[in-house]
Amino acid sequence: MSKFECELVNDLLPSYIEKKTSSQTNQFIEEHFRSCDECRELYEAMIEEVSIKNQPMPYKKKFRINSIGKMILIVLGYLAVVIIGLVVFTYIMTNGVI
Ligand SMILES: [Zn+2]
Repeated sequence: MSKFECELVNDLLPSYIEKKTSSQTNQFIEEHFRSCDECRELYEAMIEEVSIKNQPMPYKKKFRINSIGKMILIVLGYLAVVIIGLVVFTYIMTNGVI
């Protein structure tokens, strides 16, 4: 691995962590991580430092899980309505109108 690439990645890491880099840059950095343990370890250390400092990551993660949970609840609620509707419909169809 060329030293130049390492230096480039190190320069880009702060922006990369703040998600300010372009997708092409992200791809370059991620590809570099795969072949360079040194830079990946540096990146992981920096991420830890950032998340300890202002903890935006755990909050974001929690928020994402919450919204997924909400979506599941909505889908389950919708399914319950559909199933109840089907049961009532089948009951009416088999027993005639109430
Ligand atoms: Zn490197």
